[in-house]
Amino acid sequence: MSGTSGRNTLGPLSGYLSILGIAIVFFGWFASPSEAYSSTTSPALNQLTGETRTSSSKSVVSYQLPPETEQKARRKYLWVAFLYFLSVFYEFAVLVFFLDRKWVQKMRDRAEGLYATRWGQSWSVIPRFWLTYCLLLLPLEVFVQYVGAKFVPGTPGWVSWVFSWGYSFVSGLIAFPILACMIYALIAKSPRGWWLYLGLSAELISVVVLSGLAFGTGNEFFALRLEHPELVTHIQKLAARDQVQIPELDIRERSAMEPASPPNAYASGFGSRRRIVIWANAIAKLNADQMSFVASHEIGHYRLNHPLKMVLFSSVVSILFMFCGYRFAVWLLRRWGEVWGIPNLRDWTSLPLLLLAFTAVTPIQGVVENAYQWNQEVQADEYGLELIHGTIPAPNLAAAQALQILGEESLEYNHSNTIADIFLSDHPSIVNRIKLILSYDPWQKGRQPKFVKER
Ligand SMILES: [Zn+2]
Repeated sequence: MSGTSGRNTLGPLSGYLSILGIAIVFFGWFASPSEAYSSTTSPALNQLTGETRTSSSKSVVSYQLPPETEQKARRKYLWVAFLYFLSVFYEFAVLVFFLDRKWVQKMRDRAEGLYATRWGQSWSVIPRFWLTYCLLLLPLEVFVQYVGAKFVPGTPGWVSWVFSWGYSFVSGLIAFPILACMIYALIAKSPRGWWLYLGLSAELISVVVLSGLAFGTGNEFFALRLEHPELVTHIQKLAARDQVQIPELDIRERSAMEPASPPNAYASGFGSRRRIVIWANAIAKLNADQMSFVASHEIGHYRLNHPLKMVLFSSVVSILFMFCGYRFAVWLLRRWGEVWGIPNLRDWTSLPLLLLAFTAVTPIQGVVENAYQWNQEVQADEYGLELIHGTIPAPNLAAAQALQILGEESLEYNHSNTIADIFLSDHPSIVNRIKLILSYDPWQKGRQPKFVKER
C-alpha cells in the first residue's frame, strides 16, 4: 500500500493516544481545587456575602459566589483548563505523528524532483505542510469552539469562528512560508546563532507594532469625557494626588459591544500613547467608591509604566526561550533525527521538529510572563488602595466589593488551582486579590506606603 511504510497503524497511534491520556491525567491533578481555599464558610459569613448581586453595599470578607453562579464558574474554569492542556498536548501529538509518518520527507522528495533551487522547493514543501498541519488541527479547533460556545460566556458564535479560522488559515498560508524561508536562510547562514537573529527580528517587529506606530492602542474607543465628564475629572483628581497628569484624551470608554462580555478596565501603551480604558458596563455595575478603586488600579499601571515594562520583560524572555527552543531542537535532532529521517536542521524535513521544539517551550514562557504580570497586578492593587486612602470612608472594603462584582460578572471561579492559574491567567485569582486587599494596611503599622508617598 502506498503512503505508509506498511506498519501497524496502531503503533504511532497508541503513542499518540497515550500522550492524550497523560494530558487528561495531568489536567485532573491541576484542576483539583487547592486546599488553601477550601470553602468552609460559616452561615454568618454566607449571609454577609450571599446575594452578591446587591453586594455593592455588603461586607466582603472573601471572594464568594452564590451556589448557582459557583456551579457555572466551576464548569467554565474546568473546561477552560481542560481545553488549554488538551490543545498543548494535541499540537504536540500532531507534530509527533507528522514526524513518525515521515510526511515531510515525502513532500521534500517530491519538491526536489520538481525544482532544483531551494527557493522553488520552499513553495512546494511549506504550503503543503501548512495545509496538512491546519487540517489535522481542525478537529481540535472545532471541539474548542463547540465547548466554548456551550460553557464559556463571551465565546463568539460559529459564524465569527468560521471567519476568524478562515482569516488565520489564509494569513498563515502567506505568512508561514515567508517565516519558514527566513528561518531556513538564518539556519544556513548561522547554524549556531540563528535563534538569536530570529528572536531579535521578531522583537523588533513586535515592539514596532506594540509601540503603536502601526495601531494606536486604545484609540479605537471614544473619549470617556463624552459620556462621563465627571468621571474623567475624578480620575484626573485621583492621579493628581500622586502628581500624575493624565490628559483627558488618554482616558477612553469601551462600550460593551458583545452583550456577554464581562465588565473590565485596563491600561495600555507607553510614551505618548498611554491609555486608560474603562468599559461602559463596569461604570454601570460599580458604585462611585468601587469605581474609584478600579480607576486607581489602572492609574497604578499607568504611573508605574507597567505596559512598557511588560513589553521589555517579554522581549528578554522571548529571546531566552528562543534559545531554549533551539537547544531542544538540537537535542531532538541528536536523539531522534535518525529515526525520523532528518539529516540536519537545514533540511526541509526538520519543519515539524522545529515547530515541536518551539511548541514545547511556549507554555513555560507563558508561565514566566504570567508570573511577572501577576506581580504587576499586586502592585497596581496596592497602588490603588494607597491612592484612594483617605478619600473614601472604607477603601479596602470598596476595593474588595469591586473585585467581588467584577469576578462574579466574569464568572471567575472561587476555588481555582494556583498551579493551573499560572498557565491559564495573566491575573492572580480574585480569591487571592481580595485576600491581599483586605489585609493591606501600611498606615496602621507605622510603615510608609510603598508607592504613593504622603506629603
Ligand atoms: Zn490590572
